Amino acid sequence: MKAAAFAYARATSVANALDLLAAHGDKAKVLSGGQSLMPAMNLRLLAPELIVDIGELCELRGISLRGDTLVIGALTRHVELLKSPDIAAHAPLLADAVAHVAHPAIRNRGTIGGSLAHADPASELPACMLALAATIVARGPGGERRVAAEAFFTGIYETVLGPQELLVAIELPVAKGNSAHYFHEFARRHGDYAIAGLAAQARIDGGKFAELRLGFFAVGDRPVLAKAASKLVGVDVMPAALAAACAALDAELDPQDDQQASPDMRRHLARVLLRRGVAALLNRPELGAEATA
Ligand code: FAD
Repeated sequence: MKAAAFAYARATSVANALDLLAAHGDKAKVLSGGQSLMPAMNLRLLAPELIVDIGELCELRGISLRGDTLVIGALTRHVELLKSPDIAAHAPLLADAVAHVAHPAIRNRGTIGGSLAHADPASELPACMLALAATIVARGPGGERRVAAEAFFTGIYETVLGPQELLVAIELPVAKGNSAHYFHEFARRHGDYAIAGLAAQARIDGGKFAELRLGFFAVGDRPVLAKAASKLVGVDVMPAALAAACAALDAELDPQDDQQASPDMRRHLARVLLRRGVAALLNRPELGAEATA
């Protein structure tokens, strides 16, 4: 199938893109890498009247370190995240995760801003944003606003972005000393969307978690920053504490039922990920041994 007819405008600046969005409201759609928008249009799931192509806006591309903050432009492509020395040094979780996003052809075009604005609950990068305590920077007719990642995703393919707003950048606090990260997903084949996944970032002090952020994905209508993590912070993690965290996690998830997996299977996989993640972060393999339970 081919997309319904649409008008096309190539934005010449962020201000120009915002003017076009303000003039056309929810009849317009932003085009970044096109790796989610174009398939959706070709399947006639979306039929915008106007495409606002922001792909040439160099000011939205690139990765820079500003003090203790890593700033990633919205148009930074997946492949650039994968190869960036700054990401490898200051947000290695993101580098691990992006290797699981689709395939090279898609990673060469797809952008981090597009991935976050698209808000597929099975996507890797939104969950990383929760684990990394990211701030999403949006610009609209009223100026710029900053939204904590935890408040940004509001449902399946839904975010707090309004139709007249552009996601312009992502701000990440740089990883501190004693940081550890863990990323794993269960998928039918490498590059497929996950059946269940976990992006985790931690700070470890004296063998205990000083901080633990667990971003689960594909286990609900949006990425989940698991409150269950609080059961593991500041304590000697013993099997009983881990079991309590698994039970708490179970209570806060609401996984979807689809052709890939049942809700029960997704809950099971999330518990397995929690155990394996904690074992890997603390470097205590015995804690992951019950991962199949
Ligand atoms: P686009 O397709 O250009 O846009 C996506 C949506 O976001 C549109 O609604 C658009 O209007 C909006 N948008 C884009 N940029 C902005 C902005 N700056 N401000 C406001 N709104 C904006 N993704 C995964 O995470 N994991 C996978 O395993 C995976 N597998 C894939 C497999 C295939 C075969 C394909 C085709 C895609 C896959 N993707 C996967 C999606 C891919 O990662 C996309 O690159 C990403 O979801 C969207 O990025 P994009 O730049 O292409 O955005």
